[in-house]
Amino acid sequence: MEILRSVCPQCGKPSAGLCNECRAAGTEWFTCDPRVETVYCPVCDSRKQGKTWSDTTVDREALLHELAYSALHFHPDLRRPEAEFTFRETSPNRTAVAAEVRGLLYGVPVAGTCTTRIVWVREQCDRCNRISGGYYEGIIQVRATDRRPSVREIDRAAGIAGELETSLQESGERLSFVSKVETTKDGLDIVVGSNRMGQLLAGEIISALGGRLSTHPKLVGERDGKKLYRITFLIRLPRYQRGDVVVSHGRYFEVRSAAQGHLQVFDLQDGTNRVVREDEAERLVGNVGDAERALVAYLDDGVIGILDPKTQEAVECRALPWLHPEEGGSMLAIRDGETGQFVPVG
Ligand SMILES: [Zn+2]
Ligand SMILES: [Zn+2]
Repeated sequence: MEILRSVCPQCGKPSAGLCNECRAAGTEWFTCDPRVETVYCPVCDSRKQGKTWSDTTVDREALLHELAYSALHFHPDLRRPEAEFTFRETSPNRTAVAAEVRGLLYGVPVAGTCTTRIVWVREQCDRCNRISGGYYEGIIQVRATDRRPSVREIDRAAGIAGELETSLQESGERLSFVSKVETTKDGLDIVVGSNRMGQLLAGEIISALGGRLSTHPKLVGERDGKKLYRITFLIRLPRYQRGDVVVSHGRYFEVRSAAQGHLQVFDLQDGTNRVVREDEAERLVGNVGDAERALVAYLDDGVIGILDPKTQEAVECRALPWLHPEEGGSMLAIRDGETGQFVPVG
């Protein structure tokens, strides 16, 4: 009868062929690159991978781990690889890494150590390059009809630009940046890095503030074989803005929206919604955004007694059917500089 050879040829332990321990011991189960290079922009911290720049989305600690881990290469049979790193900055552009590596190979726990070096290469990114070179594709000019845009409108437009930039950048549109926001004697100029952004921004400003858009493209040359246009997006805000209180035929109206020479208004006397022609508005009293909060001191038949917020003197205004003031409560009013009257607005 033949006796089966059932021991490991290397260590003599009972095994059908080479035992797992000897197999693991004879396998190079990981290698470690001596250096890992990473290209980053010293201005905005973007990273370049291959030819593509992207914003860093992880903190430095996580980035160090990611880079160090990328230096390690494991045998396909290794299970549950684990690595622990210790970092030491050896110069402004070098980080020394000591790694302890563990895993399971053919069911045998294995462990080892290695060292690598992270090399930080500084390079100006595509976006910073455009910004520092003064590159831009669009200018949004915010202007108004027969007036200068108000501080509120200018702040709102600038705020929209900032929010849009953040959301486009977060969605990966790196070249959609705002390179300049400047108030001029006529309004506000916003300089942007891409025409797509210019179009979006002009649309958002108009939906928030009203007005009309006209675009004026100008061919300025070529870039990467494509014709390069710079576009001026001219926004003309309406004569009156939302929240303006105007006088027309002796009544006070609050403007809700303005389009094509007509105003949608809220009648501050009877609380109805109406449409009036823009040229029927005789004068501007103020804007509800600047309304003052006044204490309601008393209510008398048809009369509301409020305290002038500036002087604390009692003044009376007419009770309005759409207003429901309470004694001891407060209400919003704007001061008509021409008549000295308080106009309740809410
Ligand atoms: Zn063996
Ligand atoms: Zn950059």
